[in-house]
Amino acid sequence: MVQPVPAVPRPHRSYLSFLECPRCGERISADRPANVCGCGSPLLCRYDLEAARADLSRDDLAGRPGNLWRYAELLPVRDAGAIVTLGEGWTPLLHLPRLGRRFDLDDLWLKDEGCNPTGTFKARGAAVGVSRALELGVTALRMPTAGNAGGAWAAYAARAGLPLLVVMPQDAPAINRREAVVTGADTYLVDGLISDAGAIVARYGARSTAFDAATLREPYRIEGKKTMALEIAEQFGWEMPDAIIYPAGGGVGIIGIWKALQELEALGWIRGRRPRLVVVQAEGCRPLVEAFAQGAEASEFWQGAATLAAGLRVPKALGDFLVLRAVRETGGTAVAVSDAEIMDAMGLLARQEGAWVCPEGAAAVAAAQRLRASGFFGAHDRVVILNTGTGIKYPDLVTATPPVLPRDGEIPGA
Ligand SMILES: *Cc1c(COP(=O)(O)O)cnc(C)c1O
Ligand SMILES: [Zn+2]
Repeated sequence: MVQPVPAVPRPHRSYLSFLECPRCGERISADRPANVCGCGSPLLCRYDLEAARADLSRDDLAGRPGNLWRYAELLPVRDAGAIVTLGEGWTPLLHLPRLGRRFDLDDLWLKDEGCNPTGTFKARGAAVGVSRALELGVTALRMPTAGNAGGAWAAYAARAGLPLLVVMPQDAPAINRREAVVTGADTYLVDGLISDAGAIVARYGARSTAFDAATLREPYRIEGKKTMALEIAEQFGWEMPDAIIYPAGGGVGIIGIWKALQELEALGWIRGRRPRLVVVQAEGCRPLVEAFAQGAEASEFWQGAATLAAGLRVPKALGDFLVLRAVRETGGTAVAVSDAEIMDAMGLLARQEGAWVCPEGAAAVAAAQRLRASGFFGAHDRVVILNTGTGIKYPDLVTATPPVLPRDGEIPGA
């Protein structure tokens, strides 16, 4: 039988119960569109995990389609008919033996999110966020973006038939404006950072009914991103690794992974020590790293954010306090790497393992080496580097000027 690709999700029961504020504990209905709590904190989805534990077993997942909807019971979309999919998720988890030998890490892995639609893990958040918006009757969307989220949300909004307004920094990678334009999003650039784009989108919101889908002002994209940890668990046979290294901008991915660990434990699907969650930022924009080092509960706005890793150019994250909690509670750490280290790591991984990763993913590679050298990781620790996107989206970072031969030319020296 022909399996349609992406596989059409089957009917399911979502165990979503309500939205909860992780700061003040307020609970609100999950069945109408919601942004943040009255106290300003992001809202998190809570599920009836006791019921899910009774009804579901992890073995039920075997044989389901290779996309993130295999975890539909643990996702917020109730009606399979509302699911908007381009085949996101179930990305490869690759062993890195050569790079591992170089770093003296013999159990080093890469979760390669570059294989997602639109080339980054933003597709996970967009698939779930757009599906849920559609299900709740939202008719238009608006968002600021550092770049890749805009590209992903534009693609899923197009597939859902929802109009999207997106504002991104002028110096976001050119591919991001192209993918937003080609999929029909109402696209604007700003001579500034994602925080400036956010202020413009907020002012526009006062005159518009479009739903605010900015990072963590929308409770569902984090649910899409948490599936990275569900997949890591399942792909390793429900044995969690010792550490997961994550390049953080807004921090949604790392909060999602932390949330998934709690849910997997509540389901009884994993046990034992949680992986240490490691956050990586660029030296030119490292608010979370500084806050971690100072023992602060939240970060300060980072002035003059500058790094070639555009996804990490986020001067202040709404969920910073959750990122810091995730890192501390798991015995993780936060490190900053330079743009030069990022470029070295990108080239090294590509040559050693054939994987051309985005600069954000390369930052996590550089951090793996640094943390082994410092003794934070032991040589036999199972370490997963989360590569958030493909290097192919950033062609300008690599200069390639091979010699040009005349038509009747010879290979020099051959
Ligand atoms: C958005 C983005 C990040 C940062 O993700 P957050 O969830 O916002 O921390 C990292 N890498 C890439 C390629 C991104 O697009
Ligand atoms: Zn609150």
